[in-house]
Amino acid sequence: MNNTVRIFDTSLRDGEQAPGYSMNIEEKVRMARQLEALGVDIIEAGFAIASPGDFASVEAIAGAVERPVVASLSRALVKDIDAAWSAVKGAKSPRIHTFLATSDLHLEYKLKMSRDQALARAVDAVRYARNLCGDVEFSLEDASRTDRDFMCRVVEAVIDAGATTVNLPDTVGYATPCEIHDMVANVMNRVPNIDRAIVSMHCHDDLGLAVANTIAGIVAGARQAECCIAGIGERAGNAALEEVVMNLRTRRDVYNLSYNVRTEEISKTAQLLSSITGVKISPNKSVIGRNAFAHESGIHQHGVMANAKTYEIMTPESVGVKKTALVLGKHSGQHAFGQRLADLGYGDLDKGTVDKLFAEFKVLADRKKTMEDRDILALVEAETGRVSGENDWKLVNYVVSSSNKMFSTACVTLSRGGKETTESAFGTGPIFASIRAVEKLVKHPFALEDFQIQAVTERRDALGEVSVKITDSSGTYRGRGVSTDIIEGSILSTLDAVNRMFNGASSALGSGAASSVQHSYEDDDLLSGRTDR
Ligand code: MN
Repeated sequence: MNNTVRIFDTSLRDGEQAPGYSMNIEEKVRMARQLEALGVDIIEAGFAIASPGDFASVEAIAGAVERPVVASLSRALVKDIDAAWSAVKGAKSPRIHTFLATSDLHLEYKLKMSRDQALARAVDAVRYARNLCGDVEFSLEDASRTDRDFMCRVVEAVIDAGATTVNLPDTVGYATPCEIHDMVANVMNRVPNIDRAIVSMHCHDDLGLAVANTIAGIVAGARQAECCIAGIGERAGNAALEEVVMNLRTRRDVYNLSYNVRTEEISKTAQLLSSITGVKISPNKSVIGRNAFAHESGIHQHGVMANAKTYEIMTPESVGVKKTALVLGKHSGQHAFGQRLADLGYGDLDKGTVDKLFAEFKVLADRKKTMEDRDILALVEAETGRVSGENDWKLVNYVVSSSNKMFSTACVTLSRGGKETTESAFGTGPIFASIRAVEKLVKHPFALEDFQIQAVTERRDALGEVSVKITDSSGTYRGRGVSTDIIEGSILSTLDAVNRMFNGASSALGSGAASSVQHSYEDDDLLSGRTDR
């Protein structure tokens, strides 16, 4: 049997479906390029028929990566399969991934179909897809709750119809590792043509068993693992890619299987996802959490110093976490800064970007004394995601006054195309007031959907990293800003989002974007008691 486990990343499809993780096309393409650098074998780029934005993202990713297979999901319907194919056909290695539920529960209540009807539909869909594309995956949705004999019939029939990969998902995260092992072993042993396809796992984490179940399936013969960076995905998420791969790497003595992922890219990939979506990685998260390699207790520290293997089963370097003792500050030169960027995995930035980053670094280092790696990462992430056009709004200056007894006021000056304008506004707090002043200046109403502020490091002089989501009738736009001052960070992040909004609908977030904005920026809703913006 083939000894390589194919890593199928679905962060941009299943992962992106989860609330808080929607990404626009440009962000998905950046993520896809990093997934390629990580070495994943297959990128599931989206669900082409779901929306025009999804279609465009799948198409853009198909054209943006070289080595990985690019897949689009599709229901077992001709129009879905057609959409999937037209979105992925430009890829070097395209795949159509079609699915149909096979459990009695889903057949009876959701699809209102008999088993025989479902079998016929699955075969028709696979045959149709295979006439378009040489690489076809079929998923038996809710496989783990599907009758085992019926599963074997479906698997055999879809392989005969041309499926090259057959996925057996634990869609609802219900199965135990022993059950998954039995399920896969049953298919491997009983389906006569199983050697003509690759069996795949797709496990959800509702009971915290996604990775264990994925590995159990691999032990029983599955050779594709569908997973997401940081385990994102529907509900409790999918199997975490970094955990599946690091299990295979760390316990090679047990599994003796290979993979094409370059584990040294794991940390950077997780950071990128977190910076794009604004969702922080939990400190104790396996493999990629900030504390995953931190040894706190004295006994552990003593052991690690004597021999790292005492408490360290894998090295931070193996997942791309670099230890650096040198701290950068305002006296650091561009060479040292460039070197640190390269150490942090950003050696490939163009000179213009590095110059810009260095200029911002100097401004912050002047205010903040020392710049840690996390500060530099926050800066890079805010800058490299920036959408910039000629007519962008830029912050010139601002003044706020804030009090516990009255409204806060903000006076903000912005420039656009060299012309400066000033507005003032008030609000229940200084951030609210500043954002309202920005809204008045740009003369375009928007609603604030989400606002998060986070200290990048622990100390008092920490940088504040602000991420916002704003919505207008064209969609939802994310913005980020980093500053030693939270008001400045808030204005910068709002301007970042506003500039995305004015740079066109192509940067709107793909899904889940609310689109009704009822209020106008001219409404003095504060005075009428409405402060829910
Ligand atoms: Mn799923």
